[in-house]
Amino acid sequence: MCVRAARARASIVLTAFYASPHDTRSESVMRYCSTRGGAQGCGFREVLFSGYAPDGGMFMPETLPTLTADTLRSWASLSYPQLVQEVCALFIPDDLIPRHDLDAVLSDALSKFSVPGAVRLAQLGGGLSVLELFHGETLAFKDLAMTCTTRLLDYFLQRESRRATVLVGTSGDTGGSAIRNARGLRGVDVVVVFPRRRVNAVQEKQMTTSLEDNVHVFAADGSSDDIDVPLRGLFADQNLVKAHRLMSLNSVNWSRILVQLAHFLFAYLRLCDLEQTEGGALPALEVVVPTGGAGNITAGCIVKQMGVPLRLVAMVNANDIVHRAVQSGDFSMATNVKQTLASAIDIQDPYNMERVLWLLSGRDGAQVKGLMEEFQHSHKITLPDALHSKLSSVMRTGSVTDEGIVGTMRRCWEENHYLLCPHTAVAVCHHYQSPLKPGENRCCIATASPAKFQEAVQKAGLTVDLPEEVRALEKMATRCVNLEQGEGLGASTERTHRIHHVCPAARGVVLLTAVTGHVRLPTQAVVFLTGVSNLM
Ligand SMILES: *Cc1c(COP(=O)(O)O)cnc(C)c1O
Repeated sequence: MCVRAARARASIVLTAFYASPHDTRSESVMRYCSTRGGAQGCGFREVLFSGYAPDGGMFMPETLPTLTADTLRSWASLSYPQLVQEVCALFIPDDLIPRHDLDAVLSDALSKFSVPGAVRLAQLGGGLSVLELFHGETLAFKDLAMTCTTRLLDYFLQRESRRATVLVGTSGDTGGSAIRNARGLRGVDVVVVFPRRRVNAVQEKQMTTSLEDNVHVFAADGSSDDIDVPLRGLFADQNLVKAHRLMSLNSVNWSRILVQLAHFLFAYLRLCDLEQTEGGALPALEVVVPTGGAGNITAGCIVKQMGVPLRLVAMVNANDIVHRAVQSGDFSMATNVKQTLASAIDIQDPYNMERVLWLLSGRDGAQVKGLMEEFQHSHKITLPDALHSKLSSVMRTGSVTDEGIVGTMRRCWEENHYLLCPHTAVAVCHHYQSPLKPGENRCCIATASPAKFQEAVQKAGLTVDLPEEVRALEKMATRCVNLEQGEGLGASTERTHRIHHVCPAARGVVLLTAVTGHVRLPTQAVVFLTGVSNLM
């Protein structure tokens, strides 16, 4: 017997001998760690109320449960909300949220969508299946995980009278979804920074028409990647994080990824007939995902590691860093974020790839820390060969131009009388480029409603009926604060000192100013972040 097996056996005996029933249970409890190795043994609640891990990494489960063929078969007829419950129950310990409460919270969260069961699978001609995930309030897939995540937050807030400050950077859809879902929460302030002129009118209105006192919306110059830099800087200041209980509702937050595992399981169970293969190998499903911050594709990688035979395809627009990384190991940001018709994925820093690389590295926190710190510093790394070959075996990729997007939207309309949003078109373009071979099975993820992206629809020469709630936005009052491009780091330092002097608690704003060097925050932001209204 090898040493490791002997040790394992010894430890089983010891556990059985010494452990009380309570200890046995806590041994199986799901724990979380940072992808950069600096945090371990964290609980779900701590992870939920956080952004980046204290060492700058991202939280991941220390172990992943395996989904056996029997488990998958027993889930075959579950609705999407039921699948979300099953998946969350695997990662949220019962002694933290009892299963009964968890089911109630999640099913209530997912009851407010405009189609029964919250999502819909459209099966079109030529073997094209489109999983519509956009039937929530802001017409984008982010509503699904966001509503569950904010309900879970509320579950704890109700019991503990905690406060939290949610910091969100957005490329367009996350901001509106976070605001709509978190605006009613007691004890939560929501701060959203969006890139001015890089979001469309519907997206902007979905953010700026929330006039609640706990909602604070800022429009900044630059791309959403530019905005993420100072936000990440704020999360790096542990004193600030603690003082303001800063947390993220971007897909930095593990809970967002967790709920998104259900997208892949739902697609798999609806499109693959597991009864047919009793005893044999499970059938495979290809899932095609329009990819920006890579949260959704990360969820797909996790489901695959849990044993579901998925073939993943990450599709991007002209912002193609994920594509280059998979093709050649070139994980480097282009100098500029290119503005495309699929604006929600105009992203050069696909920050969730850190989670994927960590999984593929064999959970090597030290390696990931080295790589990611280098990437954050130089915006450019070459993936080590071993890691690159693992990455390219886990997912395939493709990049689509604006012409490709428009052409795909048109072809899908002509063939099916089915309208795609430009992001969904990025995925469906793959379907047209690589027709299915006999016996293959594929699902394209639809991330937004075409009604939210009228400009692209018009460019394709098509028309879209606007839902009443979109038309109503036009007449609503708005509130938003502009963050002007400023005088640069030198000039802002003086201001910084002044704020420092007046109120040490304003360090978050100071840091935000210092990190960007060009975003100058108006007084309101300072006042808000510090909660000191007579600051200046
Ligand atoms: C956010 C978003 C995406 C990208 O999702 P990631 O998980 O960040 O890759 C794609 N399409 C739409 C419409 C989105 O809003």
